[in-house]
Amino acid sequence: RVAEAAASWRGPGQTADGHRVLILANVADGPSARAAAERGVCEGVGLFRTELAFLDRSDEPSVAEQTDLYRSVIDAFDGDKVVIRTLDAGSDKPLKFVTHPDEANPAMGVRGNRIILSNPEIREHQLDAIAAAAKGTSAVPWVMAPMIATVGEAREFAALVRARGLVPGVMVEVPSAAVQADQILAEVDFVSIGTNDLTQYTMAADRMSPELASLTDPWQPAVLALIERVGAAGAAQSKQVGVCGEAAADPLLACVLVGLGVTSLSSAPAAAPAVGVKLGGVTLDQCVTAAKAAVAADSTSAARDAARTVLG
Ligand code: PEP
Ligand code: MG
Repeated sequence: RVAEAAASWRGPGQTADGHRVLILANVADGPSARAAAERGVCEGVGLFRTELAFLDRSDEPSVAEQTDLYRSVIDAFDGDKVVIRTLDAGSDKPLKFVTHPDEANPAMGVRGNRIILSNPEIREHQLDAIAAAAKGTSAVPWVMAPMIATVGEAREFAALVRARGLVPGVMVEVPSAAVQADQILAEVDFVSIGTNDLTQYTMAADRMSPELASLTDPWQPAVLALIERVGAAGAAQSKQVGVCGEAAADPLLACVLVGLGVTSLSSAPAAAPAVGVKLGGVTLDQCVTAAKAAVAADSTSAARDAARTVLG
């Protein structure tokens, strides 16, 4: 019955008592964005991982070429919300045209927004291309930086994005950013929580290691407590707090995230219908109750059980 309900689910995302939650798509390029739009279950793009289009390039793509790429994603959603992430290169995703230092711990090295240390012009070109792509369309892209760790990084990024008439945000995927969510949100218009990396860095456990899978489980109460902190900061400032990691694809956890104050859920489009169905069957009050119980739990299994008791 769940599968049947998911097959016919078309959105919009909301709880049984009408609390709206945007259900968005993670995409990699124009074709994946068009495929997401054609499914008709996502209201926009919550994470466009721009680095994926550049992984096999030996030179930096020209601004004109980047403009076409960004335009293809904006056009696929025809004026709907599109969140574009600046390059998250480095660590497991090295780009050939970026000077990468030899690093002993690349996951904690020059990755994401930190490429400005070696190649600040690459981010400038990318922002120019995003602004050019938006010109003449009804879309005002939201642009966010990955791997932000300090308030200063958020402030510096926001100024560059605003100067181009775009909407600035940052990812919260480093624990320091979650701890300082209040101050960071004061600098930007929105945040999006990357639960994959937030879990990796909170638990000090490599997200690629199968041996450590029980640590890199986003149901870890410590991770949920950080998300709760970010959700509360977003609510206090009336700013959107999205989640764009794998956690947003787990229907039960998605309801818990909503209870923690998350306002949009972005995942692979195939996961969206099951999330939409689950959310539509519970009230916001139930989500809040489940979220409190999950944060208070002492293990991932206790957190899941507590959420299931409330949400079914
Ligand atoms: C995340 O870290 O949760 C995220 C969405 O970014 P990525 O998986 O691309 O690192
Ligand atoms: Mg990440």
